[in-house]
Amino acid sequence: MNWKTFARWAGLAACCIPAVGSAQGYPIRPVSIVVPFAAGGPTDTMARLLAQQFQGVFKQTVVVENVPGAGGTIGVNRIARATPDGYSVLLMHIGMATAPALYKRLPFDPLKDLEPIGQVADVPMTLLTRGNLPVNGLKDLVPYLKANRDKVTLANAGLGAASHLCGLLFMSTIGIDLATVPYKGTAPAMNDLLSGQIDLLCDQTSNTVGQIKAGKVRAIGVTSPRRLAQIPDVPTLAEQGLSGFELNVWHGLYAPRGTPAAALDRLNGALNATLKDATFNARIAEFGAVAVAPTLATPEGLRSHLAREIALWGPIIAKAGVFAD
Ligand code: ASP
Repeated sequence: MNWKTFARWAGLAACCIPAVGSAQGYPIRPVSIVVPFAAGGPTDTMARLLAQQFQGVFKQTVVVENVPGAGGTIGVNRIARATPDGYSVLLMHIGMATAPALYKRLPFDPLKDLEPIGQVADVPMTLLTRGNLPVNGLKDLVPYLKANRDKVTLANAGLGAASHLCGLLFMSTIGIDLATVPYKGTAPAMNDLLSGQIDLLCDQTSNTVGQIKAGKVRAIGVTSPRRLAQIPDVPTLAEQGLSGFELNVWHGLYAPRGTPAAALDRLNGALNATLKDATFNARIAEFGAVAVAPTLATPEGLRSHLAREIALWGPIIAKAGVFAD
């Protein structure tokens, strides 16, 4: 190739072939939101609401992919190792901050291997029993658990799931250890609670308000500081004497480290448009969730919150002494 041909070729390349890692025209093909828990559960519900909104903003298909297992860490790891092209993102909750303390050999570093896009929404939790457990409120439940501690089963979505964290706090607050049963998400755990195969579950309101209203489970209490308008008869756990028992399941949207800035900007733009959308807000309000303030729906808002939460949960988990290999 002589220099003239080379110059023409180089000029052509510079003008027309997108550089590797650039995000020209992003997104030009479907975007996938990975949910690290089973389909039909709380994280899946939130991701599907986001996907619907993002699809409107991007004019491009947005799909939800469930990659469950190991309390959400398998799905997170999938995104930590994914091609950083903006076409694979992750929705994960508070478990992103507890995993470093819970797992001795975590294959990713939440602060180093992922690009934070922004916080999404805060979802409260509810402590539930199967519908035919003979208890009415916390005052009945605690003596029942004391008397039946060898028989009662508490479900969760694996070590590091919000349900696991809630169960852990509950057991340490009341001073009773129960047998726990791990699932790939709280959707299958809820099915077993409904059929009476397990006794207790603490889950996000996105998965519980409908069942509580339908009278299919017994609600013991909510983990929010105030009662929820959607289920006003359900007291808070704090008002029943579990002082300091407040749990807010915050959510963040992440991309693999190295995702081009243009794609991250577009994703953040879609997130902020979603958080302002009336339909989205009405839908999450049905289960007592609230969208975060715009200052938190930013990479820095998520990064600093994640760092604070990692520092907060580390000593609590170390004290509780729960670890996975
Ligand atoms: N949010 C999880 C799910 O979607 C469950 C959990 O964190 O407890 O199944």
